Amino acid sequence: MPELPEVETLRRGIKSFLINKTIESVNIIDRRLRWPIIPEHFFTWVVGKKVARITRRAKYLLWHLENDAVVVIHLGMSGRLGLFENSAPIEKHTHVIFQLRERMQVRFRDPRRFGLIEVVPPGQIKSYIRFKNLGVEPLSAAFAVNKVTNVLKKSKKPIKNWIMDAQNIVGVGNIYANEALFFAGIHPTRPAHSLKSDEQRRLVQSVKSVLTTAIKMGGTTLNDFRNARSEPGFFQLELAVYQRSGQACHSCGATIERIVMSGRSTFYCPSCQH
Ligand SMILES: [Zn+2]
Repeated sequence: MPELPEVETLRRGIKSFLINKTIESVNIIDRRLRWPIIPEHFFTWVVGKKVARITRRAKYLLWHLENDAVVVIHLGMSGRLGLFENSAPIEKHTHVIFQLRERMQVRFRDPRRFGLIEVVPPGQIKSYIRFKNLGVEPLSAAFAVNKVTNVLKKSKKPIKNWIMDAQNIVGVGNIYANEALFFAGIHPTRPAHSLKSDEQRRLVQSVKSVLTTAIKMGGTTLNDFRNARSEPGFFQLELAVYQRSGQACHSCGATIERIVMSGRSTFYCPSCQH
């Protein structure tokens, strides 16, 4: 499943190609996604418009068009965006094709259909319903110790569940939550309110650095956008604890342990994390 770093990498890859390009036409082949595609919205607000800029919110990719309409894309479990020449055979499970002038196409494909692709009409992105309950962006200045300390103090949730809750912070999936807690030296089951201020600081820093490292590693896979069939390179990410139960901690040599929290595998070093 694509995580925040993958979506950010995709944003950077797609940006250099799509900005200032006009979407000549949109071909909707299969409307069936988590929420069905509404073709009229594409014909009314997208066809003939230039892409002005591309941003990201949580794991949503946003194409801001010159008319202030926004194409919102979520990759779900198995969604892919790829750049193809017009002549390239259309793969099974292709949902939408954006035609560009250069005889090139951006294609959205999603075999499991948990993805989303919809148009937010001009001027409405600020009140967009799907962003209503999203927490802070982990890589933004809004995710800082002085801003999260009061929220942490009020929560009895285990810290791992707290950082994975999108109403608190967006885009910290299971792998990154495990890794960040290891680098912060914090045991995943600790109640959020029990974190001392130096632990809060280490937590914020670790979440940011784990995600930043993953994005940097993803930089080597920028070409995925140009070749939608190749697998992303995020598996190359060297993991400290995730899926390493029974193996030695790189830092202290103790054996990494595994527990289950809220149905998710949780890995930690019993000697480095308290
Ligand atoms: Zn250790």
